Amino acid sequence: MTFRVGMGMDVHRLVPDRELWLCGVKIPHDLGLLGHSDADVAIHALCDALLGAAALRDIGYHFPDTDPRYKGIDSRILLRHVMQLLRDNGYELGNCDITIAAERPKLNPHIPAMQAELARCMDCEPSQVSIKATTTERLGFTGRGEGMAAYAVALITKA
Ligand code: MG
Repeated sequence: MTFRVGMGMDVHRLVPDRELWLCGVKIPHDLGLLGHSDADVAIHALCDALLGAAALRDIGYHFPDTDPRYKGIDSRILLRHVMQLLRDNGYELGNCDITIAAERPKLNPHIPAMQAELARCMDCEPSQVSIKATTTERLGFTGRGEGMAAYAVALITKA
C-alpha cells in the first residue's frame, strides 16, 4: 500500500450581495465570498490537497477561472471531478482535514452538515472528513472580516 499526503490553501474576499457557501453548505450571512465559481474556499483548499497528494497539479490548472464554463459553478462539481481523477489514477481517500479561518459568522453549528455534505460528494464515510473552524483573533485580513482562508490536508492510498 502506498500512502501519499497533500496540502492545499485558498483565500476569497468577503463582499455584500453574494451567497456564502462553505463545504457545499449555504450559510446564512450578510456577506458572501467573491469568486469566478461559487467561491467555496474550503472545497477549493480540499481539491488542492487531494490533487497535491496525487501530484496532479492544482485546481486552477484543471478549472481555469478564465473559462466561462466554470462561472458560478457549484464547487461540489469540481470536488467530484477531482475525486474521479484520483480514482482514475488508482487512488482512494484515506482521510482529509480542513481548517477554515473566519471571524464571522460562527461556523461550529454548521460543521455536521458540512461534514455530511463533503462525505456525500466524495463518496466516503463522514469519519474520513474532518472540518474545523477558527478565528484569527481579529488579526489580519480574516480577522478584519475582509475575507476567509481555508487550509486542508489529505491522505490518499493506492493498493
Ligand atoms: Mg478559490
